[in-house]
Amino acid sequence: MRKAPKRPIKKLTVAIPPLEIDALDTTKRVVDFCIQQGLVDGVSTDIEGLIALDPNLALKKVPLRDGIDAYIKELSPGRYEIGVNSKHSQTRQKFSMAHEYAHYRLHKDNLAELAEGERILHRSDDWNTIEQQANSFAAEILMPEDQFREEIRRTGGSISELAEKFGVSPLALRYRAKNLGMRGHGV
Ligand SMILES: [Zn+2]
Repeated sequence: MRKAPKRPIKKLTVAIPPLEIDALDTTKRVVDFCIQQGLVDGVSTDIEGLIALDPNLALKKVPLRDGIDAYIKELSPGRYEIGVNSKHSQTRQKFSMAHEYAHYRLHKDNLAELAEGERILHRSDDWNTIEQQANSFAAEILMPEDQFREEIRRTGGSISELAEKFGVSPLALRYRAKNLGMRGHGV
């Protein structure tokens, strides 16, 4: 297999050991990597930038059929493509990309059924373990717990302000709050 060119990924901004892009198997590592790479603006994570840095991942923004948020498929052994519905809002696309990135990190052996595209956060089978894992992973990298709790304190739990800061939809925010066992405070 052709080896992809090495990209400069050694730029450190915080004092944690440099992480390699193919070692990001936990949300903590993904978050640390994004910080090291300068992909976090305030508390908003540039998931598109993260995908762009991975030589084995390609991103396509295309109009997908109604009801479909995104897909991930294996193009050739070890090379994957994430497609996201360009008809959706930026915030919705962001969560969709993070969700597919989670499948890429966690579920490489179960991707066949996702190649046709899927609906995310609005579906009736979100209890499905794989989908639950992908939603949790996506929410954790877009809204890391410490930052999320801190911003809730800072904003008093204003959904619009929080959504703006994290660059996510109100739906994704509520999902994260619920996922952290929070109730009330407007989220
Ligand atoms: Zn999924």
